[in-house]
Amino acid sequence: MAGKRAFIIYAHQEPKSMNGSLKDAVVTELSSQGCQVTVSDLYAMNFEPRATRKDIVGALSNSKSFNYAAETYEAYKKGALSSDVVEEQKKVQEADLVIFQFPLYWYSVPAIMKGWIDRVLCQGFAFEPPKYFDKGSFKNKLVILSFTTAGTAEMYFKNELGGDIRYILWPIQHGVFHFCGFKILAPQISFAPEHAPEDKRKEMVTSWARRVATIWDEKPIHCISSWYFE
Ligand SMILES: Cc1cc2nc3c(=O)[nH]c(=O)nc-3n(C[C@H](O)[C@H](O)[C@H](O)COP(=O)(O)OP(=O)(O)OC[C@H]3O[C@@H](n4cnc5c(N)ncnc54)[C@H](O)[C@@H]3O)c2cc1C
Repeated sequence: MAGKRAFIIYAHQEPKSMNGSLKDAVVTELSSQGCQVTVSDLYAMNFEPRATRKDIVGALSNSKSFNYAAETYEAYKKGALSSDVVEEQKKVQEADLVIFQFPLYWYSVPAIMKGWIDRVLCQGFAFEPPKYFDKGSFKNKLVILSFTTAGTAEMYFKNELGGDIRYILWPIQHGVFHFCGFKILAPQISFAPEHAPEDKRKEMVTSWARRVATIWDEKPIHCISSWYFE
């Protein structure tokens, strides 16, 4: 939709990967709608995933005992966070829709993306108790996880080897993004591209682009425990 802003946080080492193709397809689709699209290509940026003292510019509030959460909260309020974190926060702030594109790693996001979450979504910026979940800072923004797996769709059912894929999504969709107030769109899961024939892989890319063509009309999921566990 013209005038909307989308921000894609993308974690794959290889541009020619399935994740790279999924990301490119969405950039093309959203751009053709007249949306402004920003991409953070985390590996290409060599994004620092470690949450350390270096994230605070200048003096600490308590130099005797380092507390990352407390120090980044103070630094956020003083405008003393490191510039790479501030850059990412600006991109989130400006976005109507945030897309995380990644391969599933150990039932979660890759470490570089987890580091982005740890460092960028600090207190003050992303949450401020008692303003969290439905009252959270980003209640006017949408988020969607688009990810690939090695396991097939059949493996990720309740009584199958992998368990229901929704179990995996609880800590990320609910524990991170809903906590910060985001409205959660149903995930886009491209199952087992490495084991799929080429026509199926192509279809994974086109079906994601087709979905994005009408993504602004989608209703968010009801992000409570029953969506995940019942
Ligand atoms: C540390 C680690 C932990 C992992 N943990 C899990 C886990 O918990 N659960 C799980 O299920 N999996 C897990 N995996 C597997 C991982 O999720 C998959 O390997 C990954 O999702 C596959 O996506 P990809 O983009 O790397 O695929 P690729 O290998 O890049 O893509 C598959 C094929 O698609 C082709 N392709 C690319 N673009 C297109 C296009 N436009 N059209 C047609 N074909 C195209 C590529 O050339 C390639 O041949 C893990 C992997 C690692 C390394």
